[in-house]
Amino acid sequence: MALASPGEEAGGGGAAAAAAGGGGGVGAEGVVRGGGGGGERRGGGGRRAGRALLHSSHMYHEAKSSFAHHGVKFSNLEVDLPAMMAQKDKAVAGLTKGIEGLFKKNKVTYVKGFGKLASPSEVSVDLSDGGSTVVKGKNIIIATGSDVKSLPGVTIDEKKIVSSTGALCLSEIPKKLVVIGAGYIGLEMGSVWNRLGSEVTVVEFAPDIVPSMDGEVRKQFQRMLEKQKMKFMLKTKVVGDDTSGDGVKLTLEPAAGGEQSVIEADIVLVSAGRVPYTAGIGLESVGVETDKAGRILVDKRFMTNVNGVYAIGDAIPGPMLAHKAEEDGVACVEFIAGKEGHVDYDTVPGVVYTHPEVASVGKTEEQVKALGIPYRVGKFPLLANSRAKAIDDAEGLVKVVAEKETDKILGVHIMAPGAGEIIHEAVLALQYGASSEDIARTCHAHPTVSEALKEACLQTFTKAIHI
Ligand SMILES: Cc1cc2nc3c(=O)[nH]c(=O)nc-3n(C[C@H](O)[C@H](O)[C@H](O)COP(=O)(O)OP(=O)(O)OC[C@H]3O[C@@H](n4cnc5c(N)ncnc54)[C@H](O)[C@@H]3O)c2cc1C
Repeated sequence: MALASPGEEAGGGGAAAAAAGGGGGVGAEGVVRGGGGGGERRGGGGRRAGRALLHSSHMYHEAKSSFAHHGVKFSNLEVDLPAMMAQKDKAVAGLTKGIEGLFKKNKVTYVKGFGKLASPSEVSVDLSDGGSTVVKGKNIIIATGSDVKSLPGVTIDEKKIVSSTGALCLSEIPKKLVVIGAGYIGLEMGSVWNRLGSEVTVVEFAPDIVPSMDGEVRKQFQRMLEKQKMKFMLKTKVVGDDTSGDGVKLTLEPAAGGEQSVIEADIVLVSAGRVPYTAGIGLESVGVETDKAGRILVDKRFMTNVNGVYAIGDAIPGPMLAHKAEEDGVACVEFIAGKEGHVDYDTVPGVVYTHPEVASVGKTEEQVKALGIPYRVGKFPLLANSRAKAIDDAEGLVKVVAEKETDKILGVHIMAPGAGEIIHEAVLALQYGASSEDIARTCHAHPTVSEALKEACLQTFTKAIHI
């Protein structure tokens, strides 16, 4: 039985586990939190909605700023926000239906409501349609996901101060949007509204945006976002809000302390991180252990300290990403079925869906340096890639970090159009322990943006051809 998911859409860890469990003959029931089950949580539903809005807003931005340059001219370009939102809602609804279909196909019983662990083999459910029930299972997988991290002094009301959920449903384009937090969600949402015409300022406590990103790539990424007119206030913390007027006044302070200032906005998006959603689901009553951050502790088989109770996805340590949650879910079910499961968190790719996209897998140069591993770096600028040049979309680079002695690839970082697709060649390379020479000697179709990865590998191993 999986406690949680699929929520608003397909792809979460719980859904994958339930489908794999049903399909694999383990037998599965999915307990899903519905609208009536304790209020809306801000969870994985933003993923596909975000992608839809990123695509729509990118189309508008291209039409506004690039089409004429390519000889495509028209007049009266305008944004129809209700239509854009309707397309996003349609896309998400279609995906939700898809997962319900998968449940049916895999013989998963779907119970809608808010579930709590009642014993190591029972989940009590407050049903969304009223009433309650108890679902029994030999094994329970907790896949309750994560929630937005709250900030002291800032109250999310989902009207003027919104989480990513609210930022995906604004009914008007804010004139001024302040984003708190320069992680991938904040930058993606900021990009959407920036493209649609908002003046976007990102306030970040840390000295850099997306701290997990390779330093060199991150710097170029920030420059690119600034070129797109996003503003950044780094090393700055938000300490209070005032929503009494028309908009919001945020009180800011330097991260190290000092003189306060005020920034005004029509809408404020809080995206300062996410926390595991593990409180209030009966963990204490059954004795399931969590760490200080509230993440459920599991062993290599995804089992908690309580026999038969498992946990996966954002609720446990590891990258908070949908594809990682899905891999967890499938591996967990394989273990339950008595087979071997495997998830390598070192080869989980990460993608920021801005334009261009930024994708990475493996270690950053900083991480390799900190580990004291002798390494080589190969870089290739998109400006030297013929496909990127031909389509006039040549901002970015590919960077490869490989072990000096063995040439084994340790990390790949790509800022390029379609980076989120190209990265999988690198994921496979890391998975198989490939060297930069392996990719450098692999024939790549011409002209493609993927050739930039081959060239960066050539540059790592010996010398790129086209620079
Ligand atoms: C705006 C946004 C954009 C994102 N974009 C990306 C992206 O581009 N790529 C990516 O990989 N990841 C992205 N993520 C992260 C991704 O959504 C999560 O990592 C992923 O959904 C985690 O999967 P999960 O199965 O652990 O939890 P979730 O997908 O969050 O699923 C948990 C489900 O459990 C339900 N639930 C919780 N408690 C209970 C309960 N007690 N009883 C019953 N049901 C319950 C919830 O309602 C929810 O439906 C994004 C997240 C956000 C918020």
